[in-house]
Amino acid sequence: MNELYSWAPSPGAGHFIDGRFVTPASGAYIDCLDPANGQVVMRIARGGSLDVEHAVASAAEGFKAWQAVKPYRRGQALTRVAFLLREHAERLAQIETLDTGHPITRSRRDIETSARYFEFYAGIADKIHGEVIPADLDYLTYTQREPFGVTAQIVPWNAPLHQLARGVAPSLAAGNAVVAKPSELTSGTALELARLIIDAGMPPGLLNVVTGFGAEVGQPLCEHDAVRQITFTGSVETGRAIMAIAARRIIPVTTELGGKSPFIVCDDADLAVAAKAAVPALFTLSGQTCSAGTRFLVQRSIVEEFTARFIAETRATVTVGPGKEDRMMGPLASEQQLAMALHYVEAGRSEGATLAMGGARLGGELSGGYFMEPTLFTNARNDMKIAREEIFGPVGVIIPFDDDAEALHMANDSEFGLVAGIWTRDFPRARRFANALECGQVFINNYRGVGLEAPFGGYKHSGLGREKGLEGLRSYLQTKTIIAQG
Ligand code: NAD
Repeated sequence: MNELYSWAPSPGAGHFIDGRFVTPASGAYIDCLDPANGQVVMRIARGGSLDVEHAVASAAEGFKAWQAVKPYRRGQALTRVAFLLREHAERLAQIETLDTGHPITRSRRDIETSARYFEFYAGIADKIHGEVIPADLDYLTYTQREPFGVTAQIVPWNAPLHQLARGVAPSLAAGNAVVAKPSELTSGTALELARLIIDAGMPPGLLNVVTGFGAEVGQPLCEHDAVRQITFTGSVETGRAIMAIAARRIIPVTTELGGKSPFIVCDDADLAVAAKAAVPALFTLSGQTCSAGTRFLVQRSIVEEFTARFIAETRATVTVGPGKEDRMMGPLASEQQLAMALHYVEAGRSEGATLAMGGARLGGELSGGYFMEPTLFTNARNDMKIAREEIFGPVGVIIPFDDDAEALHMANDSEFGLVAGIWTRDFPRARRFANALECGQVFINNYRGVGLEAPFGGYKHSGLGREKGLEGLRSYLQTKTIIAQG
C-alpha cells in the first residue's frame, strides 16, 4: 500500500464503523489502482450485508447521542471538521489524486470545497426553525423540523470527498447520522473524513463508512429498514434502481445523476471569452464531471471561427499527464471508463461526424495509465449517439444552429437537464433562453461560475431534489405539525 494510507490496518483499509477501523466480515479486500499507471496503491475492505448491519446499528446509536447535543454545539463540531480538513488538506489532496488521477491543484481545491461545506452548514445547525400557524385561536398550531435518523450517502468516483461532504455536512447539521458508501475506486478520503469526524469530538457512529461494491454494500444499505433517507450521486441506471427500492420502502431519496449539457454560443457572443471558457467546460477532470459542457450548439455563421478558437485554446492550454504532475487533464478513472470513451469516438465516426481533434488513447510514457487525447467532433447532429448519451470522458461535439428556436429545441431535446450555458451580449435574449431551458442551473456568459451556496440539481433524468445552498438542507428534514389545546 502507498505510504499515504499508513494509518489503515494491514492487509488493507478496514471499514470505519463506530469510531474505529474494523476488518470486513468477509475477510476479503479489493485492490485499488492508480489510474495514472495501473499500479495497486491501496486495498479496501470488501463489504457485505453483515458490515452494513453493523454500520447501521452503530449509526442508530450515533443518532441518539447526536440528538442530545445542543444545535449550536453541533454547529461548533461541524466547524471543527472544516478546521481539521484544512489542517490535513495536503495529505487528503494527495490521496484524492492517487485514487482519482485528478491534477493535484484540483484535488486541493476539492478538499477546500469540502471544508467549506462543513463551514456553510455549521452556521445553519442552530437556525432550523419551525413556524407558528394562526389557524384557530383556541389552538396553538406550530411546526418543528426534525431529522430522519439514519441516512445513507452513496457517491461516485469523480469528486469523492467533495460529493460526500456535500451530503454529509447538511445531513449532520440537520441532526441525522450517516452511513456512507464511497465508490470502490476511490474510498480513501471518505475513510479519512470519518476519522476526522471523531477527532472533531462527534459521537462514534455519526458517520460510518462501509467500502465495497454497489450490489454488495450499496443495495443492502438502501434496503435496510433503519435507513430513513437516501442521497445518491451516480449514473441514471443505478439511480433508477435505488429509487425503486426507496419507492418500495416509502422513504425519500435525492438523486444527482448524469448530464449532457448544452453550451450555446450565439452570433453576438464575445467569441474569444466563450471559446476560452468552453475548453475547461468540457475537459475539466478529463470530461468526468456531471455538469460538463459537452454539446456545443453554435450559431452557423460563427461555427468555423468558434471551432478554430476552441482547437487553438485546447492546444495552448490542455496538457495531459499524471495528477501529481498537475497537468490540465489527468487519466480517466479506470480502464473501463477509457474503453467507454473510445467506444463513443468510434460511434461518432461511424455516424458521420467529423473528428476535428484527438480521438485516441495516449501512448509512450503514458501508456501504462488511462490517458486520452482531448477530443472534438464537428458537423454533428443532435440525434447522434455522441450528442445524446453521457460519455463521461474528454469528448465534445459541435452542432450548428440557425436561429434561437432551433437552439432551444436542441438544447431541450435531451433526456438530461442538469445545467446549460448561454453566450450572448444581448441580455434579454439570454433571459429568454434561461427561462425556456429545461435544466436545474443556467450560466449566462460564464460556465460553472458558481459556489456551494447556490442550489444544484437536475431536471428530467438528471435527478430529483437539490443539493447545496440552504435548499440542500431540505432533503434531510421532515416537518412535524403540533396542534395543542389547553
Ligand atoms: P454508478 O452509478 O456506477 O456508481 C455510483 C455509486 O453507486 C458507487 O458508489 C457504486 O458502487 C454505487 N452503486 C452501484 N450499483 C449500486 C446498487 N445497485 N445499489 C446501490 N449502490 C450502487 O456511477 P459512477 O460510474 O460511479 O459515476 C459516474 C456517474 O455519476 C455519471 O453518470 C455522472 O454524471 C454521475 N454524477 C452526477 C453528479 C451530480 O451531481 N449530478 C456528480 C458526479 C457524478
